[in-house]
Amino acid sequence: MSNSSLVTHTKLSPNNSGKRNHIIDTISIHCMAGNLSVESCGNLFANPDRKASSNYGIGSDGRIALYVDEANRTWCTSSSSNDNRAITIEVANTVAADPWPVSDEAYASLIDLLVDICKRNNIKALLWKADKNLIGQINKQNMTVHRWFASKSCPGDWLYNRHGEIADEVNKRLNTEINTEDDDMDVEKFKELWLEMRKELKDNDSNTYSKEARTWATEIGLIAGGGIGKDGNPNYMWEDLLTREQFVTVLYRFAQLMGKA
Ligand SMILES: [Zn+2]
Repeated sequence: MSNSSLVTHTKLSPNNSGKRNHIIDTISIHCMAGNLSVESCGNLFANPDRKASSNYGIGSDGRIALYVDEANRTWCTSSSSNDNRAITIEVANTVAADPWPVSDEAYASLIDLLVDICKRNNIKALLWKADKNLIGQINKQNMTVHRWFASKSCPGDWLYNRHGEIADEVNKRLNTEINTEDDDMDVEKFKELWLEMRKELKDNDSNTYSKEARTWATEIGLIAGGGIGKDGNPNYMWEDLLTREQFVTVLYRFAQLMGKA
């Protein structure tokens, strides 16, 4: 369990229930209902009398703060079952009135943070249907909003109406990153590359610190070498890996030299 490396301000809040009782499989985006900096929001959540918190906060300048470790259950969405499974994120509003808009910087950081949360928590995609009846059916919808659990307008219409767009942008980023990282890579391809890499190690390249040991080992026949190298000498493959099979063979030869086998 980790937190986002995108965080630049941390003020841990006492307002949480400790360890979650559920894996993280849901995202709940909230609005701060004000243009709070990440510091001001952190100070509010630091007050035990507020009895409120979120995992992350995003200011209008786009900075991201951590208030409650992802491992812990926040007091954010007026629902124990939701907060036990959701990462909760408070986003600052540039205007403290309906429709509770957020800045371009905060919106961009929200997408970055969501991509990071999904990757680290193995959430393959964000799913949004704007359907309260799908709460808990995470294979159909894994985003929830505060207004479904309490008589509040949170996250405000500006963010609420963009939930589909937010999911699309995050999923596009997740797919691109997965495809560029794993493009046509599978076990067969990996084996091929692995053997190709080991080919480069099959020569007599070696470091000087091991010279004495190498000379000793070849002279007494502990290491025999596999075939003849490009330089006409036995190919000792000094940089290549040693299998367990080769390891016991070396030990056995050594024991024989010592008269113990
Ligand atoms: Zn809320």
